[in-house]
Amino acid sequence: MCEFCVQHGEGEKWYLNAANYSEDLLSDIRRRRLIEEFMSDTDGLARAGKYLEILGKAPRLVKDIVGRIVTRKMKKNHFGQVVPIEDIEKIFGFVTSIVRVSCICRHVTLGKDKRYCYAVSLGPGGGKMAEILRGIDDSFIGGPDASDNELLTKDEAVAALRGHEQEGLCHSVWTFKTPFIAAICNCGRTECLAMRTVAHGIPLMFRAEYIARVSPGTCTGCRACLSVCQFGAIAYDPSTRSAVIDQRSCYGCGVCRSVCTGGAISLTERRTVPAAANLW
Ligand code: SF4
Ligand code: SF4
Repeated sequence: MCEFCVQHGEGEKWYLNAANYSEDLLSDIRRRRLIEEFMSDTDGLARAGKYLEILGKAPRLVKDIVGRIVTRKMKKNHFGQVVPIEDIEKIFGFVTSIVRVSCICRHVTLGKDKRYCYAVSLGPGGGKMAEILRGIDDSFIGGPDASDNELLTKDEAVAALRGHEQEGLCHSVWTFKTPFIAAICNCGRTECLAMRTVAHGIPLMFRAEYIARVSPGTCTGCRACLSVCQFGAIAYDPSTRSAVIDQRSCYGCGVCRSVCTGGAISLTERRTVPAAANLW
């Protein structure tokens, strides 16, 4: 289990611990302020993206030292972890509200409002998160359009996320003042700032509790999975005519599994794979 499960899981995967979605945690004014600032300060997020590019090109020592400080700080405030669809379904099973909202990353990187984020809550009708989002909408300057936020049923939300997976996007949970989990997003390499942090080696998004594996006897060598892996973890082995997964690079998102029509890819618990058990 990852460090977040050890600290916040109470014996299970930390994002399956309902206490981490508690409405009481939103009574903390600093947490509410963090959410409001994050959702409205798009200039600040764009600046953070630029600093990230600069830091990514800095000398190794500088990047390592500054990167470690940034990652440590963000683990306390706002970080994400990749979660496969079956665990997202479990989350949707115990939260009482799911509200689809515009993705702040896409607003900054694409200049477009696209509803790929899902605010989750234990309160009715969107709970306190919806209250906060409505408040931002009232006073709002320059952030994504929040006027058409939609309350979804569990089945509607699962269907939407399966659709995002077919687009090649991986699911992730996000904290606002850890351990509070406020949202599930659907991330792509080009438009997601968090995925850029991974590419630059200053991660604010961490690997799933799982890892993918290919059953060589079942793989037909069609290579459909190679092009959808956003982490460059799959290659084709001509000698066996099948796909191979680099266990150290796999983030366990399960997107490759969703395009493998032959059912050759499965997810297994990361802790059971020695080469990847301590990689997050
Ligand atoms: S999509 Fe499935 S069958 Fe095709 S190469 Fe990948 S693992 Fe093999
Ligand atoms: S190999 Fe599959 S599960 Fe692993 S990161 Fe790539 S797409 Fe995700």
